[in-house]
Amino acid sequence: MPGRYPDARAIDIPLSFQVYNSFSKKKETFEPLSEGVVRMYNCGPTVYSRVHIGNWRAFLFADLLRRWLEHEGYEVRQVMNVTDVGHLTDEVAGEGEDRLEAQARREGIDPWKIAENYTQQFLDDGQTLGCKEAMVYPRASDHIPQMVEMIKALEAKGHAYRAGENVYFDVKSFGAYGALSGNRVDELDAGARVQVNEEKKHPADFALWKSDEHHLMKWETDFGPHGFPGWHIECSAMARAHLGDQIDIHTGGEDNIFPHHECEIAQSECFTGERFATYWMHTKFLQVDGGKMSKSLGNVWNVDDVIERGYESRALRFALLRGHYRQPLNFSWDILTESTRALEGLDDLVNRLRRLTDAEDAGSERVEAASTAFRAAMNDDLNVPKAVAALFVLRSDVLEGSVKGESADAALALLERADGVLGVLRADESAAGGAADAEIDALVAARQAAREAKDWAAADAARDELNARGIVVEDTSDGGTAWFRK
Ligand SMILES: [Zn+2]
Repeated sequence: MPGRYPDARAIDIPLSFQVYNSFSKKKETFEPLSEGVVRMYNCGPTVYSRVHIGNWRAFLFADLLRRWLEHEGYEVRQVMNVTDVGHLTDEVAGEGEDRLEAQARREGIDPWKIAENYTQQFLDDGQTLGCKEAMVYPRASDHIPQMVEMIKALEAKGHAYRAGENVYFDVKSFGAYGALSGNRVDELDAGARVQVNEEKKHPADFALWKSDEHHLMKWETDFGPHGFPGWHIECSAMARAHLGDQIDIHTGGEDNIFPHHECEIAQSECFTGERFATYWMHTKFLQVDGGKMSKSLGNVWNVDDVIERGYESRALRFALLRGHYRQPLNFSWDILTESTRALEGLDDLVNRLRRLTDAEDAGSERVEAASTAFRAAMNDDLNVPKAVAALFVLRSDVLEGSVKGESADAALALLERADGVLGVLRADESAAGGAADAEIDALVAARQAAREAKDWAAADAARDELNARGIVVEDTSDGGTAWFRK
């Protein structure tokens, strides 16, 4: 069908990966610090409760990004931390309840056990959702010495000060504080709704180390006998321990921008004197049924909730990845149903193509256009909606019979590459109905034989049987037949 595609050569193909950098607030051409290697740090879960699907939007994005970078030939060193120490609900104020410990009190068990259980659950959910395993999932509790080392050095350089057994970061000592979030120190001062903490020099100063003898998770250090780290220093120390002083990409949810990532930048850059991360990438929130997820509304869904409702985990993965990561995404059970249908459409495309590879070649330009469109979309700051749309245009071409022979093989190769990035298609032929396909092939052959023998009753009976199984048979222009699932 002429005109459906622009000429492949006319598509504006970003020659290399374009990344929207939350720091510069614009798209930039991705260039790693070391050729061919990407050092990536993803802010991972706080394991005081089951990770919900909103959190998974950010973690699946990290997996997608890693897979795309690998597709483009990079070696990706992916580090996703696990915050198992617990952190204050309000780090800015230095007040508030430690959520991990609060959960431990609610469940009446050891906070270490809670952290361990939810960490394992998080890793299991990641497997269920098809995430590639990160190089390492560092636990904050295993990096206390590295945090203490950084805090002491920050103090020695005049970026941190002690107040009793607490240690705070002095935000006024870092001129670039606010560069990521756009917050200004003086405005934070004026607008501070937080309870004034007399210990701090400035309301925006944040805790690097806190002391509390009642805290269940605590360490004896030079700062005092029972202290624990602030949340932000955990990530600065773990990133440095596993990736070095400078990293290429740092990701997180949009709620991490301030204060968490702003504080990470301040700590890391004051410690090393160098730029911490080149690219900052943040996923937008997941809404549920048009609003916020909340315990009171009973809509804080996790992976099991979705599977218990009869959906495949891949439908959840697809639903969470299909929208562009910088656009808000509204989750509903309808989008899971719709994602399931879309995946069945892509499975069906693979099945059809497998049947078309022996035919005379046709449609190479369409496969090439789809391939180009897919890569261009992904290179454009991971535009998954556009990339998936390219696969569905290819499906239309296949349905109308325009892609056959060697081009069908090329289309299968494209789908395999695309799925290496998306991770949602059925892995093998048997899973796509291989055993049932043999029976259908037999029925199709029986119908064809009956038609050739002009036994219309038998031909109709075979067709009815196929219809009952949801199969549509089409007579092709070259006198053969093709079938597909409705
Ligand atoms: Zn973090």
